[in-house]
Amino acid sequence: MIYDIAVIGSGPAGLTAAIYAQRYNMKAVVFGNKPGGLMTENPFIENYPGFKLVDGAKLGEEMVDHAKGLGAEMVAENVKEVKKKDGLFTLKTEWDTSYQAKTLLLAHGLKSRKLGAKNEEKFWGKGISGCATCDAAFFKDKVTGVVGGGDSAGVAALIVREFAKKVYLIYRRDKFFRMQPPYVDKIMKDKKIEVIFQENVKEFYGKEKLEGVKLEGGRELPLDGFFIEIGFEPEIPYTLSFKLELDDKGFIKVKRDQSTSELGVFAAGDITTESNMFHQIATAISEGAIAADSAYIHTLKHSGK
Ligand code: NAP
Repeated sequence: MIYDIAVIGSGPAGLTAAIYAQRYNMKAVVFGNKPGGLMTENPFIENYPGFKLVDGAKLGEEMVDHAKGLGAEMVAENVKEVKKKDGLFTLKTEWDTSYQAKTLLLAHGLKSRKLGAKNEEKFWGKGISGCATCDAAFFKDKVTGVVGGGDSAGVAALIVREFAKKVYLIYRRDKFFRMQPPYVDKIMKDKKIEVIFQENVKEFYGKEKLEGVKLEGGRELPLDGFFIEIGFEPEIPYTLSFKLELDDKGFIKVKRDQSTSELGVFAAGDITTESNMFHQIATAISEGAIAADSAYIHTLKHSGK
């Protein structure tokens, strides 16, 4: 079977595109081994219109159900390779299954940034984590740390404080300016959270498991768990048989209709240069909707190919 649109990425951008595509009678297939995407890691979404507070896992589930209910096919696998021949795209998944589609939407998001501190790799999974929702419960009544100064760090600190007896929040500047003010207010008032401004992590230490961190200023913090929440960077984690135009950081350049430099290939969500690079569910959804509309117009223009 040949799908009308193959969507790489099962976060809000990809799922919105699938919903719109299905409603245009386009057959969509969505790839991604984390249905709902990164928002499923945030239990405190307070800026998604219509919901004063919504759990990202629940919102993700609803979006997946919505797309599936309209007939989109969900493949819980990552794509490893895309080839384009005669206007058709062939996608191969990590389990070597092949799919064909008339248009392609790249909506796979970004990858977490690593700190680069000494012993970070050594203690990854042995006390260091990049997902508070997944791992906070392991640190019940323990001392923990979070590094970062954006919304991810704020959300992580607020999740971890529900379990841990203490959370150090380490941020390199002298005040929060990226983090949404409601998170800052909660954090600054929280007796379990100690904010350490103007500091960086120099080194992680321990024997088998993480036992603490050393900061650049010389302070040592004995702790059991540590969450690295310092943002994301672009990556295209699959091979493409064609060359895409990227910006100097590696984000996919798109036009206002979400089309890329390659005919029939669209991109949406955090991986693109659009939406003023404001990485939100609201902007991902908007780009996904536009991309589906543009892919629909493309299939009408190029039908038969
Ligand atoms: P971000 O906004 O890019 O913030 C990354 C933070 O990490 C910055 O404070 C940065 O410091 C710090 N940082 C970067 N590299 C570092 C290093 N090597 N050492 C120490 N600190 C470092 O990333 P994010 O917090 O992951 O958020 C990404 C996007 O997702 C944002 O648009 C955000 O609004 C969104 N998001 C939204 C929610 C929500 O709405 N509930 C939740 C999570 C994420 P500087 O400030 O000095 O650059």
